[in-house]
Amino acid sequence: MSAEKLATRVTSIRVSPSTAAAQKVRDLKAEGREILNLTVGEPDFDTPHAIKTAGVKAIAEGDTKYTPVNGTIALRKAIQHDFKTRLDIDCDLDRICVGGGAKQILFVAMMATVEAGTEVIVPAPYWVSYPDMVVANGGTPVIVHCDESSRFKLTPEALEAAITPRTRWVILNSPSNPTGAAYTAEELRALGEVIKRHRDVLVMCDEIYDRIWFADFPAQSIVSGMPELADQALVVNGVSKSYAMTGWRIGYAVGPKFLIDAINKLQSQMSSCPSSISQAAAAAALTGPQDSVEETVTVYRARRDRAHELINAIPGLSCLLPDGAFYLYPNCAGVIGKKTPAGKTIETDLDFSLYLLEEAGVASVHGGAYGLEPYFRISTATSMEIIEAACAKIADAVAKLS
Ligand code: PMP
Repeated sequence: MSAEKLATRVTSIRVSPSTAAAQKVRDLKAEGREILNLTVGEPDFDTPHAIKTAGVKAIAEGDTKYTPVNGTIALRKAIQHDFKTRLDIDCDLDRICVGGGAKQILFVAMMATVEAGTEVIVPAPYWVSYPDMVVANGGTPVIVHCDESSRFKLTPEALEAAITPRTRWVILNSPSNPTGAAYTAEELRALGEVIKRHRDVLVMCDEIYDRIWFADFPAQSIVSGMPELADQALVVNGVSKSYAMTGWRIGYAVGPKFLIDAINKLQSQMSSCPSSISQAAAAAALTGPQDSVEETVTVYRARRDRAHELINAIPGLSCLLPDGAFYLYPNCAGVIGKKTPAGKTIETDLDFSLYLLEEAGVASVHGGAYGLEPYFRISTATSMEIIEAACAKIADAVAKLS
């Protein structure tokens, strides 16, 4: 067999653009170029010691066998407690599922509900994987552009206008990758009112960054203030970002029982269960002291503030202050149409991002990858020195445009 015979679900999707950008950085570094990498989508911290120890203990004590497909009771109790205490979400243990990362939960949830003819509303800018996850499952992503003037957030009017009889999901990612914008309780309530009127529409709340939080309003879920939405909402979270546990691969969700059962049924045929060792470590992360989260948030906040200040000081670029997560999404409209020293016109944010890579040795991801141009995403999951050096190089490169 050859590649032409591969299933459409593979040929119709892309390799994640952030993965592709990270590969380009590796290639350039291999050629001996010094690159300041602002593409990284994972914490630059190590997994806290106590969490690692819980993983080691699980191995030593023989906690190394299949677990229930929906996760160990210990982990689900920890998740239940976390949802209750932080977000005021009540749920029985059988409404919680655990999988190999939030990404897997999101994918399997779509697999359970999306097919040809199904529409999924994806507000843009979006996390790169959402549209491809919809397409891989045969559905149609309905992209709704959200302007910078609304802090890149979906408005109730835009949501209502995008809903059709074929709509299965609307995706809300708060705080957002790539913009860092988060929804307030009032905004969530207004969106919730629309969703409530459409009983066959589900809302997928991707809250993977909700502990990396800087805003002066509290982190909330759409279900926090509207328990009546519990049978229409899948609230997804995980330990990857908050506890620097990207390699452990544990994500989880709370949702209506019929949907959690469907996710479990699919996972029983796909993976049997997530790693027993990682589940023990994730339970320790959720139930143990939270100082490591607080310490890293303090560091991320300082980096966000500095990057925000430095980017906004560059003529032609401007950037909103993120409410959470570790990304900034600067607007680069002011450099579009300008000429590089080599005489090439910057026509798109991809041209600009490539110019930054070639001229300044700074790697970023262009806004087109997230469905809203002209912007570019930079990550602050790297040292303050690299952020400052990269912003200085971006400033020099922009100053050379005419
Ligand atoms: N959602 C968003 C918005 C993300 O940025 C990521 C990671 N890049 C994920 C989900 C997936 O996280 P996990 O490691 O839990 O699969």
